[in-house]
Amino acid sequence: MKILILGVNGFIGHHLINRILAEKKDWTVYGMDLGSDRLGNALHDPRFHFVEGDIGINKEWIELQIKKCDVVIPLVAIATPKMYVEDPIAVYNLDFEMNVNIIKQCVKYHKRVVFPSTSEVYGACSDPEFKEDESYLVVGPIQKERWIYSCCKQLMDRVIYGYGTRGHLEFTLFRPFNWVGPRLDSLYAAKEGSSRVVTQFIAELLMRRPINLVDGGMQKRCFTYVDDGISALMKILENKNDVCKNQIINIGNPNNECSVKELADILKELFMKHPDHINDPSYSEIVDVSADNYYGKGYQDIYTRKPSIEKAKKLLQWEPKIGMEESMRLTLNSFLEENKDISI
Ligand code: UDP
Repeated sequence: MKILILGVNGFIGHHLINRILAEKKDWTVYGMDLGSDRLGNALHDPRFHFVEGDIGINKEWIELQIKKCDVVIPLVAIATPKMYVEDPIAVYNLDFEMNVNIIKQCVKYHKRVVFPSTSEVYGACSDPEFKEDESYLVVGPIQKERWIYSCCKQLMDRVIYGYGTRGHLEFTLFRPFNWVGPRLDSLYAAKEGSSRVVTQFIAELLMRRPINLVDGGMQKRCFTYVDDGISALMKILENKNDVCKNQIINIGNPNNECSVKELADILKELFMKHPDHINDPSYSEIVDVSADNYYGKGYQDIYTRKPSIEKAKKLLQWEPKIGMEESMRLTLNSFLEENKDISI
């Protein structure tokens, strides 16, 4: 199988390429990204063809690869809430416009698309567990600019679904629920305060800055270890007996539901017990901050976000294995290991 991964140096992309190269000797991957800092040894593998480039610029190369490949995985997107409120137009341009062009080419060349939707499309849905084919997708008013990402992704889902059900495209939409793991975001992004919560808290611990609980930290997420997520994604790519054809599939770990406050406590405790930090003279305090102060007026939070994974279990014969504490330990340790010599 020949696969095209756009955004292969991103969090999901680089974990996916490593797994493909380790497990699938007869798969070849063509990848593009703005950078290659997370790709490591993969760059030397003859089954991986990497080009440094921008999906907004290198359109000819992309079209050529779409023509050649069997499956296209467009992973390029802005996916950090801080960015949704800071630059909603950049989110729209990249997450919708650029991506819809890729989808149109997949339609033109009759290629299968495995597209990252997002748990964010369920928004403020009040269901205790979000179901792919039943739950309502609930967003706030226009002034709450946070929802631009959810809306862009929802419209992508609807466009892809529309092409798919009319026979113009074969697709699988997958919805990651707060995947975490090594190299989730760069610590430099976290230094600026613009990364996802787990990297943000790890960076605060390393910099001895306060850990901010937005509006008290009672909001909950289900943190999913990236290795579990990638296992599901591999099964989607394998697509045995076409089980994933034109399906939408949540990929998350409902057993790892945890409030942001509990998350802060877990990470701080793991950090304080880590051999490199056990003798530190002081540690970050955990403090409350209002959402208005932390994100600005355009923000609105999501209080619960729990997946139903019945569909993933049934279609993929998959379920997540890595618990909350272990997910955080593995993630924290990898950040500490990789940033030993860096002063942030
Ligand atoms: N959050 C927080 N402190 C921070 C960063 C994030 O309390 O320093 C909260 C944020 O308000 C949200 C949750 O953590 O409720 C998860 O945020 P993340 O950026 O990981 O993305 P989301 O899960 O909302 O897509």
